[in-house]
Amino acid sequence: MPKAIKKIGVLTSGGDSPGMNAAIRSVVRTCAYHNIECTGIYRGYQGMIEGDFKEMGARSVNNIVNKGGTILKSARSKEFMTVEGRKKAHQNLVNANIDALVVIGGDGSFTGAEVFNNEFGYPVMGIPGTIDNDIFGTSHTLGFDTALNTVVECIDKIRDTASSHNRLFLVEVMGRDAGHIALNAGIGAGAEEILIPEQDLGLERLLESLRKSKASGKSSSIVVIAEGDKIGKSVFELKDYIEENMPEYDIRVSVLGHMQRGGAPSCFDRVLASRLGVKAVESLLEGKSNFMVGILNDKVALTPLENAIKGHSEIDRELLRVSDIMST
Ligand code: ATP
Repeated sequence: MPKAIKKIGVLTSGGDSPGMNAAIRSVVRTCAYHNIECTGIYRGYQGMIEGDFKEMGARSVNNIVNKGGTILKSARSKEFMTVEGRKKAHQNLVNANIDALVVIGGDGSFTGAEVFNNEFGYPVMGIPGTIDNDIFGTSHTLGFDTALNTVVECIDKIRDTASSHNRLFLVEVMGRDAGHIALNAGIGAGAEEILIPEQDLGLERLLESLRKSKASGKSSSIVVIAEGDKIGKSVFELKDYIEENMPEYDIRVSVLGHMQRGGAPSCFDRVLASRLGVKAVESLLEGKSNFMVGILNDKVALTPLENAIKGHSEIDRELLRVSDIMST
């Protein structure tokens, strides 16, 4: 018989994303609803090692559903990668009578949670929080929808100036290994070309596409490029390359950077965070452990952490075709 859970700890780890606060709120309030205690753990695993804990009641999470970032702060912890570090963290949880853990973060954070579970048999539940949407077992991670809205809003503004000056804009968006942001925001903002890590478009194809676009009467163009695109050039090298081959274009580069991670979460992310938080706590109370709570076909679904970590979240290839057709 697993030990009855009377107190749950919650932490945010890795890169922050909009919706993490709404998820913390959901975890805290679901604990209160079920009359169990909840402890906030500051600065992710590092705070767990240092015992940086604070008891959280339903009222402690007032007015955060609409806030970006994370009130619990986030961190990356090298010490947690060591057995000694994890032993300290485990002892702190035991001393504070915390019986289970909800980890809000990306696949690195889930790996930490899984290792911790394997070592100490400690109950853990993951909630996917990252703007990149690169986690297997969920169609959406917390923050992805907000980041898309932010990127689309920026590109809309860039388009105003691109079309006023007949310019070609290269817009770099986040996504080192995954093109979800570039692909979806690119279609939403009407980009002429979208370059993503999952597909090597090739430089020649890009030039050809830009020539076609010019010949079809377009006087300005937007190319959206994911950070980790495989074309083999940085966005600035790409600008030089296109300029050499198409001197008729006046090219500008815009790297959107960290603004994509900030801001108030969208309604979608707030609702998602609320649903995932409820399921994470209730699953732990039912004795489940070592799962990630995600959303599949609009239903909350549990995926073993191991699969969430090892699996690959594929891009929707049909979206590439849609993008091609839209840039006709
Ligand atoms: P993001 O998507 O923003 O990168 P993430 O959760 O993947 O978020 P990471 O920096 O990869 O972020 O991981 C967060 C923390 O998880 C690490 O700093 C470390 O403390 C812990 N962690 C990652 N991998 C392991 C591991 N193999 N063993 C123990 N802990 C780990």
